[in-house]
Parts: sequence; C-alpha cells; structure tokens
Amino acid sequence: MIPFLDLSAMHAELRPQLDDAFRRVLDSSNFILGPETAAFEREFADYCGARHCIGVGNGLDALFLTLKAWGVGPGDEVIVPSNTFIATWLAVSYTGATPVPVEPDPRTMNIDPALIEAAITPRTRAIMPVHLYGQPADMDPIMELAARRGLKVLEDAAQAHGARYKGRRAGTLGHAAGFSFYPGKNLGALGDGGAIVTNDDTLAEQLRTLRNYGSKVKYYNEVQGHNSRLDELQAALLRTKLPLLDGWNVRRRALAAQYSAALQGSGLVPQHVPEWAEPVWHLYVVRSAQRQQLQEGLAARGIQTIIHYPVPPHLQPAYAELKLEPGRFPVSEAIHAEVLSLPFWPQMQDSQQAEVAAACRQLSTNVSASAADKAA
Ligand SMILES: *Cc1c(COP(=O)(O)O)cnc(C)c1O
Repeated sequence: MIPFLDLSAMHAELRPQLDDAFRRVLDSSNFILGPETAAFEREFADYCGARHCIGVGNGLDALFLTLKAWGVGPGDEVIVPSNTFIATWLAVSYTGATPVPVEPDPRTMNIDPALIEAAITPRTRAIMPVHLYGQPADMDPIMELAARRGLKVLEDAAQAHGARYKGRRAGTLGHAAGFSFYPGKNLGALGDGGAIVTNDDTLAEQLRTLRNYGSKVKYYNEVQGHNSRLDELQAALLRTKLPLLDGWNVRRRALAAQYSAALQGSGLVPQHVPEWAEPVWHLYVVRSAQRQQLQEGLAARGIQTIIHYPVPPHLQPAYAELKLEPGRFPVSEAIHAEVLSLPFWPQMQDSQQAEVAAACRQLSTNVSASAADKAA
C-alpha cells in the first residue's frame, strides 16, 4: 500500500523538537500573539526575503484580509485563474466582490498573462495569480500590466513556500502574498495556519489590526476587524519546521525529476516547467486522457492518488450564481478532466516511487493499447 501522502515519518523525526515547542508554549501560558508568533513572523519574512509577515488563521483568511485591507468590496472585480482551488475565488467573494476567471496556459496550468488584459473592466481592482502545484506563475508580465492599469497583485502562494521566479522567492513577486500552513502544504502546521507576506509597511500595519478585532490597543477598535490570528502553538511548531523546508524542497525536486524521467514516453504529461521557474512541487501532477482507468488501476495495486481538482470553481454549485456554463473555460475544464496527483512527499522512498512509476507506465501502455483496439 502506497499512500498519497504520509507525514508520519517527518513528524517522527521531528518529535523531540515538536514536543519542546509544545512545552515552551504551555510553560509560557502565552497562547495568543505571543513571542513564538512574533519570532515566526520575523523568520518567515526573512526566509521569503520580504519586510513583513503577518500570521493569520489560515490561507483563505490571508487572501481575504489582504483584499479587504485594499478596500476591495461589493461592485468590484478581481481577476482569478479559472484553474485553481476554490479558496482563491472565495477570498474575493468574502469581500463582496466578484471573481473574474481567466484561462491558464495549458502546459504550465498557471494563469496565462496574455489573456488577463481582455478581462479587465473599469471595476477591476486586483489580479490574483496562483502558483499552482508549487510552480510560480509568470509574474513579470502580470506586474507590468498591473502597473499600467493601476491594479494590485496578490499572489496566492498557498502551494509555493520557497518557490522562485527568476531567482526571487514567491511572496515577494506581487504587492502581497497569501500563504497557507495547512498540514499537507510544503510548510505545514499541525492544524490550520496562514500568513501574508509583503514589503508594504502600511498594508502590514492594517493587516495586524484587521486580524485582531480591528484593534491596535486592546479594547480600542479602529475598524470592524476579524478574529484570525496565527495560533501561538502552531507558530512554535512551524518554527521547528522552517529550517528544514529548503531541504524538503530539494528532495521534492529530486523526486519530481525522477518521476518525469521514469514517465517519459508513457503518454502521461507532467506540468511544464519554463526555464525561469524554480518550482517546489507541492504536488506532482500528470495529465492523462484516460485518467479514470489510470486511477482505478493504481488503486487496484494499492497506490493512492488524488485529483487536484475534479471540478473547476465555475462549475461548482457554490458558484451557480455566476451562471458560467460548461464549455465557457475549455482549457481549465480539460485540465480538470485529465489531472491526477501521484503519491508524493519528501520522505517518500525511492523504492516506493519506482513502484508507482512502473505501475503508471504499465497502465498507460495497457490503456493506449485498449484505446487502439477500440479505434481499430
Ligand atoms: C490550501 C490553499 C488555500 C487555502 O489555504 P487554507 O489554509 O486551507 O485556508 C488557498 N489557495 C490555494 C491554491 C491552496 O492550495
């Protein structure tokens, strides 16, 4: 049995440091916005190469609170990828604004910068590129367009801790970036967590207020804020993991290269990596025209896979109100019909990976042979 993801080896190795982090917080009796949160914010900002990090309750809040701080609200529009996890869209909807989807490049599966300008209207306030599966979106043309049209750019970096674009880290490419520390992310807490990273002093100050009841001084409330703080315990746990993140990302890169080499010629197509991208492979995703047979065949061999994501946001019942009918975003719809995420985590053994790759090769050969039979 090979699971899709197994965090137990990582946590077994880190057990003494995690226990120590727990003890530190318990002994301090300081559970909300204490020294561990402040230290993690400093350390994660430094890691990204940015001036500020503001810890919040989860990745969705990181995105939503940033849009809210920028004054995005009802009647406004925000450009989002048609191909993303629904949180990107929900962050926009929470403000009362409308998400306006733009199709991805079919090879990178990230938003296609060339298609963004046509989606801009007088109501557009911001663009939210997503660094999908850990690969940075093509940010230079997006920032150039945003500057020309007076728009804000918010990176959804929830899957991209440590990824680089032309040498610069995700989190420093837009005006601000939202990160998630959901347990399965490249840097994961043992529960929910999130953060905003930015070089903008004013935004950072606003977010520190917004996440904490709109209050700078306790019981004095400047705005109607939220309760969305990075938990002190999660911050302490994240501090034990942060120094190991680069090493885990190196291992992810090696595993991804091995998968891609082993699957060459199999008909399974991995995410294309442009020469300026240094992805951190949050997921290893292949496209297959016979995805269902592939997934079932792998399951029959005890190999667990997941689809990220089975239904694009515009076809979810949650977004029926936008009346975006099937066929409206064909590139995204084709991606959702074909993607499959293979078992992948930094502590995965080479032997486990070889078993998955061999099974994939065998199944894709069988599948193409039976497709050829049908055609004949
Ligand atoms: C995980 C994720 C989020 C949301 O993060 P949470 O911490 O679960 O709220 C947002 N966007 C993308 C692309 C994600 O993968």
